[in-house]
Amino acid sequence: MTKTAVYPGSFDPIHLGHVDITQRSASLFDRVIVAVYNRPNKRLMFTSEQRVALAREALQDFPNVEVCLYGDLTVAFARQIGASVLVRGLRVISDFELEYQMALTNNQLDPNIETVCLMTHKDYAFLTSSIVKEITLLGGDASALVPPNVASALRALRESLPDPVDFTPGVSVRD
Ligand code: ADP
Repeated sequence: MTKTAVYPGSFDPIHLGHVDITQRSASLFDRVIVAVYNRPNKRLMFTSEQRVALAREALQDFPNVEVCLYGDLTVAFARQIGASVLVRGLRVISDFELEYQMALTNNQLDPNIETVCLMTHKDYAFLTSSIVKEITLLGGDASALVPPNVASALRALRESLPDPVDFTPGVSVRD
């Protein structure tokens, strides 16, 4: 039987920590759906369509990975596409608290769906989409932290914005 996993998140934008978790999931499961949540409770840099397009291009070399947009409860989306596993990444201890709460909530909503958390690669333990956004908006170069297509999109976005950008830094380790 095909084992399908969903890797849900905001992916605003996808970065190398996300790519690493996706790649490792793709070696554990037959099929991995990277599920881009269309209305996260966050200040977004990219539209839903852009976040999907960037993730799709960044992950195009993994044959068993697909990228979808979704807006339902994650477990409902997982059920709908026949997935039985949710993949999440853990960077720092503080991630654990929220991931644990979400895993228990999702288990309450659907006990047939398991959450699997993968530890971040040590190179990406500090990396969040918020950090990528903050570097970019303050005029820095985040290209070492993201796939090349995302680096281009960040450059284009930065060039389209006024200088200096009206932006209040507010990084949290949690995105
Ligand atoms: P969310 O809004 O769901 O937190 P994100 O796009 O920020 O969405 O992250 C999606 C998933 O990827 C989360 O499980 C998050 O912990 C994980 N993740 C984010 N950054 C990293 C990283 N540097 N290393 C490993 N996992 C990460």
